[in-house]
Amino acid sequence: MNITIIGAGPIGCYAGYLLAKEGHLVTIYENHPQIGSPIQCTGILTSDFDQFGFSLDSFLVNTIDSIEVYSPSNKKIVIKQKDYIVCRIKFDNFFADKARKAGAKILVNHSFQRKEGKELIIKDTKNNTEIRVNPDIVIAADGPLSPTAKAFGFYYPKRENYYGVQAVVEGTFEPHTIKTYFGNDVCPGLFAWIAPESATTARVGVATLKNSKYYFDRFMKAHHFTAKEMQAGTIPVYHPQQRLHKDNCYLVGDAAGYVKATTLGGLIPGLQQAEILARCITEKKNYCRELKPLRKRMWTHLQVHKIMDRFSDADWDRLISYVNQSKVQEVFEKYTRDNPIPLVSMALLKEPRFVRFMKYLF
Ligand SMILES: Cc1cc2nc3c(=O)[nH]c(=O)nc-3n(C[C@H](O)[C@H](O)[C@H](O)COP(=O)(O)OP(=O)(O)OC[C@H]3O[C@@H](n4cnc5c(N)ncnc54)[C@H](O)[C@@H]3O)c2cc1C
Repeated sequence: MNITIIGAGPIGCYAGYLLAKEGHLVTIYENHPQIGSPIQCTGILTSDFDQFGFSLDSFLVNTIDSIEVYSPSNKKIVIKQKDYIVCRIKFDNFFADKARKAGAKILVNHSFQRKEGKELIIKDTKNNTEIRVNPDIVIAADGPLSPTAKAFGFYYPKRENYYGVQAVVEGTFEPHTIKTYFGNDVCPGLFAWIAPESATTARVGVATLKNSKYYFDRFMKAHHFTAKEMQAGTIPVYHPQQRLHKDNCYLVGDAAGYVKATTLGGLIPGLQQAEILARCITEKKNYCRELKPLRKRMWTHLQVHKIMDRFSDADWDRLISYVNQSKVQEVFEKYTRDNPIPLVSMALLKEPRFVRFMKYLF
């Protein structure tokens, strides 16, 4: 089949690799001149990344062994978990190289413009010319604002987007510990983070629905950080009403809103979704049906996010005291954030008082 992918982010390139490997004719159009640039990501992956079987050598920056969680009143819990921090330019190029080696064509400086009948109009921004393509299948892997989903008329209008602002800073850091700070005054709706690249450099950021720069500046000031480099970008909130397939167009990755609503991590769900999509295209299976287990995980994150979004400062302290028991801590250390269903259900079994927070769902 002749397949056009819009967007050469990691998810578009991974889908392109998997489909080209199966003998499909794949062309990936990317509007930026360089793959992976500009960076708009902290690059944190849970150890669930191991399930893909890739060598991390070409893009790994640091390995994390624990996550510290701070409540608004500075109560702390430490969760021992292995995470990776990657360089997004190298990470994205790793997937682009795989796609190319499998036979996919990647055209940079090529921006999807609009749809006319069944044809897609792509602008070659370097030569200022337009090309028309009429593929069998279109994959929209063009990020949270997905111009392709909009052109096909199925971008769900009630979708919400966070805006993340982060800086690379210098200082003294525990090199294998990510620190997260919660509270309505710190970062409403999410958390602020300090993710070390090393003992002397870290990625520091916040993401909110509104006024991200205000909260970012406050956080930077409170921790006496000076930005060496700034990065920012839009992050979608998963919306269960977003359709993922219309006519010959499929959505994947941020374009589909497949991002964990609790942490805004989209890389692992997007890669998992790309595998499901590639299999469905090759084996002519129903994409939406095959996505059900992943969709349930996205939904669980959304419910937890809705609860935490309504937390008072006292709730954060309560949550931390519940987690700060070895029987609960064990659960948080056993299941990563990419496995929210066993994580939530086992935590509830070990500490039934978590049920108290459910009131925020209604
Ligand atoms: C500040 C910040 C921090 C984050 N931190 C993490 C993290 O630590 N861990 C994690 O898992 N996730 C994180 N995320 C989310 C993560 O970056 C995304 O989930 C991930 O990049 C999704 O990959 P994608 O390939 O779907 O989309 P993208 O990486 O957005 O790629 C989409 C591509 O489509 C291209 N494109 C867009 N429009 C067009 C067009 N019209 N024509 C052609 N090409 C087009 C874009 O240029 C881009 O290259 C973070 C996001 C932000 C903003």
